[in-house]
Amino acid sequence: VTLQRPFEALLPRVYELRDLSGVVQVLTWDQETYLPKKAMAARGAQLTTLQGLYHERLVDPRLGDLLESASAERTLGEDERALLREVKRERDRAVKIPERLVRALADAQTEGLSAWRQAREENRFARMAPALTHLLLLRREEADACAVSPERYDALLDRFEPGMNVARLGPILKRLADRLVPAVQKIADRGPPQKEPWEERSFDVEKQWTFTLELLAAMGFDLEAGRQDRSIHPFTSASHSTDVRLTTRLDAAQPLSAFFSTLHEGGHGLYEQGFDAVLARTPLAQGASMGLHESQSRLWENQVGRSRAFWQHFLPRLRGVFPEQLNGVDVDGFYRAINRVQPSLIRTEADEVTYNLHIILRFELEVSLLRGTLRVEDLPEAWNDGMQRLLGVRPSTDVEGVLQDIHWSYGEFGYFPTYTLGNLYSASLFMAARKAMPRCVEDISRGQLSPLLSFLRQNIHRHGMRTTAEERVQAVTGKGLTDEDFVTYLREKFGELYGLEL
Ligand code: ZN
Repeated sequence: VTLQRPFEALLPRVYELRDLSGVVQVLTWDQETYLPKKAMAARGAQLTTLQGLYHERLVDPRLGDLLESASAERTLGEDERALLREVKRERDRAVKIPERLVRALADAQTEGLSAWRQAREENRFARMAPALTHLLLLRREEADACAVSPERYDALLDRFEPGMNVARLGPILKRLADRLVPAVQKIADRGPPQKEPWEERSFDVEKQWTFTLELLAAMGFDLEAGRQDRSIHPFTSASHSTDVRLTTRLDAAQPLSAFFSTLHEGGHGLYEQGFDAVLARTPLAQGASMGLHESQSRLWENQVGRSRAFWQHFLPRLRGVFPEQLNGVDVDGFYRAINRVQPSLIRTEADEVTYNLHIILRFELEVSLLRGTLRVEDLPEAWNDGMQRLLGVRPSTDVEGVLQDIHWSYGEFGYFPTYTLGNLYSASLFMAARKAMPRCVEDISRGQLSPLLSFLRQNIHRHGMRTTAEERVQAVTGKGLTDEDFVTYLREKFGELYGLEL
């Protein structure tokens, strides 16, 4: 009889948790895509039951005991230590947050969402203020329960970006804003961009669909270990690296929306398909953070998908699909059209130069709300002033301003910065890829994307959650989080496009 190592005794429980969360993923994906309308309530109950079961298993004292004895083992391998760290991280949080608070938060989120919808209908932030104040109170309580640091925001950020904090992120975002604001101003001084005639034409959605599948195949997304479907808001959901589901959005009047959504979600999907098989059914088979996940989507969408090289290969193919609509459109014209810069009010419509200013505004406001230096009632005014200061535009209504995003309506503070982290990391990683593979851009211009995918597989994807995002990026680029590479990228690309010294 051989004695079982404590670590091995722990594993079945780790697998069980991971399986449960995989099932939740599939059911949630189904809810967003194919669920019959009348099944909404039943599905809600099914998800609540499964999530309750998950929580019960996670906080089970026996799991705590097993974690403790496994951690005391002297012969743990690196992956084993990482696995223990991640299970503990998730469990500690679940144990520290009282069940009363979990339930109060769930109720407040439902209330917040409905207040947000109402407020948008009335175009009046005040309608939502009480619900938001309540959510903020509960999030403060949650942050205090976790006690990650005296800066409450850190505890909320930590859920999405393990290891990141305000002290590290704040100064980088501040410097980024100082560099972006004058660059945006210079471009805005050129006047509003003009639309090309082809952009007003109609593009058959079935043909768009076929083209998005061609894009996915070219990227190396494995359609036998995943699929693409349609939804209004594109997203990626994975229950396992062999089951990765993407959605894209089809609109005859906006073909670019489908192409860039597919490139974006495809980037997320490749990450999910790329974890080392040994990590399967453990929490290590996950992106290292939401920011690093977003770096993969933005790398394919922007660094690759909005480059001239990419369309040197793909525009002729797209013209083959839409010969009438794109008659006479050349690569330079197309490249300019997909890279127009204009300060605008709505984040989700923002271009690469202005986008991060929208995020910096939200980050500043969130930190102030959590610290208590900004009151919820004063939020619309602070929002509008911030838009004026950062982007030079001022919303005239709440719907165009503080009410535009869904995130705060369910108390999601700490998530927004992951978008900018994604942009910053994507620039650093793509720069490192080009350095490591001098023919990278030339390959892309011939539609050969597999060398880039191999680079990402080797350096990012396979490692999953073995280390923090910043440690992983540091291992690839030789430096951690920085705005340097992103700013260099913007200055080169948009300086050339606009003939300006940015
Ligand atoms: Zn994304």
